[in-house]
Amino acid sequence: MRKNVIAANWKMNKVLSEANQFADAVVDKVPADDNVEAIVCAPFPFLPALVEKTKGSPIKIGAQNMHFEENGAFTGEVSPVMLRDLGVTHVVIGHSERRAYFAETDETVNKKTHAAFNHVLTPIICVGETLEQREANETKDHIENQVRKALEGLTDEQTASVIIAYEPIWAIGTGKTASSEDANEVCTHIRSVLKEITSEDVAEKVIIQYGGSVKPANVDELLAQSDIDGALVGGASLEAESFFKLVEAG
Ligand code: PEP
Repeated sequence: MRKNVIAANWKMNKVLSEANQFADAVVDKVPADDNVEAIVCAPFPFLPALVEKTKGSPIKIGAQNMHFEENGAFTGEVSPVMLRDLGVTHVVIGHSERRAYFAETDETVNKKTHAAFNHVLTPIICVGETLEQREANETKDHIENQVRKALEGLTDEQTASVIIAYEPIWAIGTGKTASSEDANEVCTHIRSVLKEITSEDVAEKVIIQYGGSVKPANVDELLAQSDIDGALVGGASLEAESFFKLVEAG
């Protein structure tokens, strides 16, 4: 039985005082629950404070990106060693905004995924199709390609513990949600690809989230689907009350 993982992706929002207020508002509300995990993926400058404030609570703190190298001449970058040292547990890799605006490729996604495991961070790997790809009936091939490339070279044990976020690009921040059936169809396809790459046993363990305009009003229907095990949430994760409702739904 897989748990539901609700991950907030704050993107480039908030200032430190607002991040602290959010943590204060949710930290005592989110109970330890084997069936749901709550993660807050925040901008780098807030990570130390959030890790500190959520110590002893079941809330996990994630980054939204990182470099794949451990250190070196990469001005402006943040390494997996730095994240792990802070107490960060998760890292979003290959978000469509990073693929579109910051030249993230399937190759760098794969390198970052390996780097995450080398430093005991759980990768939340994002995949998703554009509207043009969906309309051209290319969704499944595109997603399969992204999943296969992201996971290349991982052991079965590592594959079993990745989190994959299926995020149709046309549904991110647009208010348009994929219907729960359409979202589930792609998530089921991802799981069948995982079965081919590894085994049924491993594929059944992998958490597959849906992301794209998820909010308290539509989360129940999405989570009721057979292959959707949580959500990666942007806009609706910024307010503590709304994030808490999403976690409660999990
Ligand atoms: C996201 O940032 O990954 C996302 C899905 O955003 P939103 O929930 O705002 O569509």
